[in-house]
Amino acid sequence: NMAVFKPENVQDFYEIGEVLGSGHFGQVRRVQERTSGTCWAAKFVKLRKSVGCLMGLDRSSVEREVEILQVAKHPNIVNLKDVFQSRAEVVLILELMSGGELFDFIAEKENLTESEAIAFLKQILEGLRFIHSKNIAHFDLKPENIMLSDKASPHPNIKLIDFGLARHFCEGEAYRSTSGTPQYIAPEVINYEPLGTAADMWSIGVITYILLSGMSPFQGETDEETLSNVIALKYDFDERYFPMTSSLAKDFIQRLLLKNPSERMTAEECLLDPWIKPITRQQLAKRNRSSINMRSFKKFNARRKWKMSYNIVRICNRLVKMKVLCKISSEGDSLERHCESDTEDRESQPASLLRRRLSSTS
Ligand code: ATP
Repeated sequence: NMAVFKPENVQDFYEIGEVLGSGHFGQVRRVQERTSGTCWAAKFVKLRKSVGCLMGLDRSSVEREVEILQVAKHPNIVNLKDVFQSRAEVVLILELMSGGELFDFIAEKENLTESEAIAFLKQILEGLRFIHSKNIAHFDLKPENIMLSDKASPHPNIKLIDFGLARHFCEGEAYRSTSGTPQYIAPEVINYEPLGTAADMWSIGVITYILLSGMSPFQGETDEETLSNVIALKYDFDERYFPMTSSLAKDFIQRLLLKNPSERMTAEECLLDPWIKPITRQQLAKRNRSSINMRSFKKFNARRKWKMSYNIVRICNRLVKMKVLCKISSEGDSLERHCESDTEDRESQPASLLRRRLSSTS
């Protein structure tokens, strides 16, 4: 059990390598342990300098993420090996997920049967069943946070990452939050109602819907529209996007996309659902004959990747704007116009609340 944050310098123990990804408060880099030569992923989290400071994360938030990862030891949850701390940052040494994101892995395939998709989904559900049994909710389930240990293996091992929004509940404690990503967020989050592990199950419903059809069930033109679709439970199974989908799969999704959190299937119940765990031979056969809408899925994934880079441009625009405001120069202004439009993002609207952590870089 790793109880303490080490005060030593990370670089004394690990050689720092290339950037693997970036989060809102710093980068994730590949590192190599000097003694063993083993590779790990190091998540560098910048700490907030003072209470009024906009940049950086509170130490208590990092401590919470660490505490949760320590409890969440499971084959389908990213493993935390070590933690280093200095005055300015905390470094989490995590197991390296060298296989990339599950959605990217699937998008490279020619086709995928429902049975194959279920083999992936099952691992996600096993991880969730475990953390939920420990009274931990992830609260940020989305394709970017579902990764593969190693994609070369014939049966890739899937793990959930990014416990930055996760919460460990105490008995009888009511927790509310407006953090998350509009496409995957449960209605009770938007309505600022008490939250529990059922909010994760909603996200599983959305992720499964996308996996099978390549369409996002509640996606609107804007975040506001998406959120109102979620609250109104406005979604359907358009035959054009579900041409090869089994009815068991649709039933499964329908039992997750329910407004009332207590009516949704739990992770445990999902694992016993006839779509995931067929009872009859016919059910099994149907599953093998059904397949996911690969053409549409590839399109969804390409658009998703494009939007991720678009978000980076938007953050850059804001930084330029901030500089312009500071310098009162017109130079930065013309620079900004060369980048993508920033108009979609209006601070006064509810969706900006949901774009957690991003606001601290704005
Ligand atoms: P966000 O602000 O987007 O929620 P974050 O600051 O909480 O991000 P993570 O989501 O944990 O940070 O990591 C950011 C990115 O770094 C991930 O999307 C992923 O691409 C990469 N990454 C994180 N952990 C690992 C890992 N263990 N192995 C490989 N890559 C990783």
